Amino acid sequence: MIREQRMRLEYEVVLSLGSNLGDREATLRAAVHEIASLPGVTALRASGLVETQALRQNGIDPSAPSYLNAVVIVRSALDPQALLAALHEIERDHGRVRSTRWGDRTLDIDIVSCGALRVDSPELTVPHERAAERAFVLVPWLEIDPDAELPGHGLVRDLVAGLDQPFSRYPAEPLL
Ligand code: ADP
Ligand code: MG
Repeated sequence: MIREQRMRLEYEVVLSLGSNLGDREATLRAAVHEIASLPGVTALRASGLVETQALRQNGIDPSAPSYLNAVVIVRSALDPQALLAALHEIERDHGRVRSTRWGDRTLDIDIVSCGALRVDSPELTVPHERAAERAFVLVPWLEIDPDAELPGHGLVRDLVAGLDQPFSRYPAEPLL
């Protein structure tokens, strides 16, 4: 008898969430719960919140509203492209207007890494191209995974040690 065997690939995915418009904390909190209720997705851990000044393509912009950021680690049975599509839908539900890249936004959700997987397609680059240089990604990530590794860049703790970017912790109830 041939028994059907279905390979079920699951990825441990690191997500970076950010908001600099509206009720930032409420948006991040709602987004985490929406991510956790996606079919095939289980939320494992969520970091505390950090606050950082807005980063534009040419550097920090002190005149823009500041960001609240958090990192969430999930287990996902969705492939990365399908997960990105679902995350974009959550962004849209929160009124995200995709006008300018680097612009202010109610909600941004980026895929930082997907286990050891690498993706390089027009819509998706994993690991995220700029994660290695962003304190607002690395610091909260390190907080919830002290042994985290960013594929191609080494240990997150070493990356954090080499950073010189201002950020502050933002006191809030746990997101999960
Ligand atoms: P950013 O997050 O770079 O400030 P956007 O959120 O507007 O800008 O994303 C622009 C595009 O980046 C998205 O439409 C998406 O297709 C693409 N993209 C490429 N790699 C990733 C990734 N790892 N996570 C999220 N989006 C990504
Ligand atoms: Mg994004």
